[in-house]
Amino acid sequence: MRMPTPRDSARIAVLAGGIGGARFLRGLVAAAPDSQITVIGNTGDDIWIHGLRVCPDLDTVMYTLGGGISQERGWGREDETFAVRQELAAYGMEPTWFGLGDRDIATHLVRTQLLNAGYPLSAVTEALCTRWQPGVRLLPMSDERAETHVVIDEADGTQRAIHFQEWWVRHQARIPARSFALVGVEDAKPGPGVIEAIEGADIVVLPPSNPVVSIGTILQVPGIREALARTPAPVVGVSPIIGGRPVRGMADACLTAIGVETSAAAVAAHYGARAGDPPGLLDGWLVDDADAESVPGIEGLGIVCEARPLLMSGPEPTREIAAAALALAARLRP
Ligand code: GDP
Ligand code: CA
Repeated sequence: MRMPTPRDSARIAVLAGGIGGARFLRGLVAAAPDSQITVIGNTGDDIWIHGLRVCPDLDTVMYTLGGGISQERGWGREDETFAVRQELAAYGMEPTWFGLGDRDIATHLVRTQLLNAGYPLSAVTEALCTRWQPGVRLLPMSDERAETHVVIDEADGTQRAIHFQEWWVRHQARIPARSFALVGVEDAKPGPGVIEAIEGADIVVLPPSNPVVSIGTILQVPGIREALARTPAPVVGVSPIIGGRPVRGMADACLTAIGVETSAAAVAAHYGARAGDPPGLLDGWLVDDADAESVPGIEGLGIVCEARPLLMSGPEPTREIAAAALALAARLRP
């Protein structure tokens, strides 16, 4: 039997993508400074660029919580320069659409060397975090390579799959996506500690990350969705959609591709109620005040729902959002 845990030292597991997840996490660390937070990070966006292994979402979380993020861009390093990028372009090296900053490249050099020496991504991530001290345990969803690809139509009527980054960064998600495929996932296992973190958590949080290519990707790793269904902890989510639009980025293009409307209620229904039949993922869901009229419908699905401001416009509003998620979870704890 598990002893009741005072809220301050609660074990919190969070499934996170990049910018939305990282900003929320900064608020969560502020709201529950003494808690043990384990972040299960999306590695479906990972890509080899110029011989370097790049893990954009893990790095966004690590830099954001470690104080090294570019505040202005929301990704990459602060005080960044792009000399290497310019030199590569002068050689005509492709791809030119994925810009690696000079400071950022050091991270990818360290990661690539350690991977080449035989260390798994989880150990490499831990080593990188020794420098950044993010204040959370950052776990890749898997040590195996599983990368998101996007199926698009060609002009000649055939279809082709391109790497997620090519679709997202190069094409800005403007080419309609037919579907997403997480290439390699059937052979992927959850990373070390991932299942234990979910099953042993007091609270599980789905932050306002992309429901398709961040959280949806993590959930495809065999065993992770099942662990969420099984955990005795309440699972609460924060809507990334406010007033029918993603706050930043192109999550609407991803939702459309999987046939889900871009609304806070449709994302809640897509995740589903853990109490539902068939069982889904959510016990609780926070929507923005702009979506308050959708609260009764979401509650009708069997998901406890509250409306409050969800714009992460600065440290204090973000801390308050995280505190509201924890308070909702506390209400739901069995
Ligand atoms: P990415 O991997 O960098 O795309 O980041 P995530 O998947 O973690 O988060 C992207 C999502 O964050 C987008 O769908 C946005 O709608 C959402 N988002 C960004 N800023 C905010 C905000 O201030 N409030 C809320 N509720 N969602 C946000
Ligand atoms: Ca991402």
